[in-house]
Amino acid sequence: MTPTATLEAPVAESTVAKAALFVGTPRKATTHTSQNEGLIFEKSSPGKKAYRMDALDVPAVDAAALLGDSLRNDLGAMPELSEIEIVRHFTRLSTWNYAIDLGMFPLGSCTMKYNGRVNEAVSRIEGIAEAHPYQPEQLSQGALRIMHQLQHCLLEITGMDAITLQPAAGAHGEFTGVLMIRAYHESKGNARRKVLVPDSAHGTNPATAAVVGYQVENLKSNAEGGVDLEALRAAVDDDTAALMLTNPSTIGVFESQIQEIADILHAEGALLYMDGANMNALVGKTRPGDFGVDVMHLNLHKTFSTPHGGGGPGSGPVACKAILEPFLPAPLVVKKADGVLGFDFDRPHSVGRVRMFYGNFGMFVRALAYILANGPDGLRQTTEDAVLNANYIRAKLDGHFELPYKTASMHEVVFSDKLQATNGVKTGDMGKRLIDYGFHAYTTSFPLIVSGAMMIEPTESESREELDLLIDALQQIAREAAENPELVKTAPHTTRIRRLDEVGAARKPVLRWKAPPAKESLTPDSAAKEW
Ligand SMILES: *Cc1c(COP(=O)(O)O)cnc(C)c1O
Repeated sequence: MTPTATLEAPVAESTVAKAALFVGTPRKATTHTSQNEGLIFEKSSPGKKAYRMDALDVPAVDAAALLGDSLRNDLGAMPELSEIEIVRHFTRLSTWNYAIDLGMFPLGSCTMKYNGRVNEAVSRIEGIAEAHPYQPEQLSQGALRIMHQLQHCLLEITGMDAITLQPAAGAHGEFTGVLMIRAYHESKGNARRKVLVPDSAHGTNPATAAVVGYQVENLKSNAEGGVDLEALRAAVDDDTAALMLTNPSTIGVFESQIQEIADILHAEGALLYMDGANMNALVGKTRPGDFGVDVMHLNLHKTFSTPHGGGGPGSGPVACKAILEPFLPAPLVVKKADGVLGFDFDRPHSVGRVRMFYGNFGMFVRALAYILANGPDGLRQTTEDAVLNANYIRAKLDGHFELPYKTASMHEVVFSDKLQATNGVKTGDMGKRLIDYGFHAYTTSFPLIVSGAMMIEPTESESREELDLLIDALQQIAREAAENPELVKTAPHTTRIRRLDEVGAARKPVLRWKAPPAKESLTPDSAAKEW
């Protein structure tokens, strides 16, 4: 009866005998026995409460007289449960989650590193956690100092001149950066019309350029997966506003000709935007500001170990060269004449505010804690370990899976499903099969320039032991794809919910719960109205 169950395809259990669930022996995963769990609405029974209140010892207020039209009487479909039922419901659900505290996320392009506990300890210090964004500047010197020091660290790491912490995500940072590029060209009298984006780019890059009003022109990659300089020369003219480039690229390859790329753009008055989502491969080793980048964003929730995705809000600071500084969003955190920190709102050329208050402050605290806990040597070591881990996986899986680009890998490695596809086994099948071995899937089918891409980014967080378990699992899956392809094509087999009907889920999504007619307190009408 649950919405997920209706999306389940019928193939999974029947086609594969239980005894033959694995060709080898998974060293990591076992099926576990945690209890099934219905929806909280299904557990509800009328009149149940998780509290007991003393009788009123003051006169009751007439709520209708007090609240007028604002009084709501139509909350009929709220679940009614006891405290222990609520606690158990959410605790059981929490055991269904895969989490970084249980094992690695090999998702490429995402830098799913472990977020050290020190970040959480610092962000819960009372004066930080309870600070209010409307506190006057004199009473916010500590909070301002955190932001000011983080800015200083990020400028040192990127080699740029000025920065805003406002944007709330990587894509939001791109948007801010390209708005600044537009404002810069406008200040010279012509916004220009096109933005170049390589075919290896993250989907957010062309989307950003389009949202800011630019025509997107696709740039073909060369055989090494980098920018083709001849194609770039042919594409750049005085109508080009910028090139948006991810470096290292989404196939984990450093643009060795980055300086020439910058020179070609600058000769035509165009700017170089760097998507800095892959900075985990560069921190402490090389600086975008030193190799010709004009403006870039950072993903604090990737490189700087703040929670990612469902774990918390993101943060996408934008750093730029001095020529773009006037266009940064207002306000900026600055040191004022008397040495006191404060906000500078007086920025006539600013693209404006892109986020309420000053950005996601809790993320600044965590990122700064991460930077200070590691120190310069620790950050450099982090980068080296991330690159080492990716290359270890590459060496161990090369041959088991096809490696479409032979260029040296940085922090992530991209294989393809070419060898397995001859048996009808695709990247998505193997990603789902990895779940049976106790891992989150790697990134499937991205980047788009690799057909059947399998993109793996281990990050520095993982030990040799965990990497070996992943390698082991993927080697076994390659064997299964050769010997028993059906086993992989119908995976996962050991999970609570088996393979979903993805087309059905996209075309006919079940997005809300409706009460079954039998329940007294939850009539379909009232539930449909509410939910
Ligand atoms: C993650 C990522 C983005 C987008 O960042 P969000 O914080 O998810 O908006 C952009 N480009 C690349 C290369 C990325 O990996």
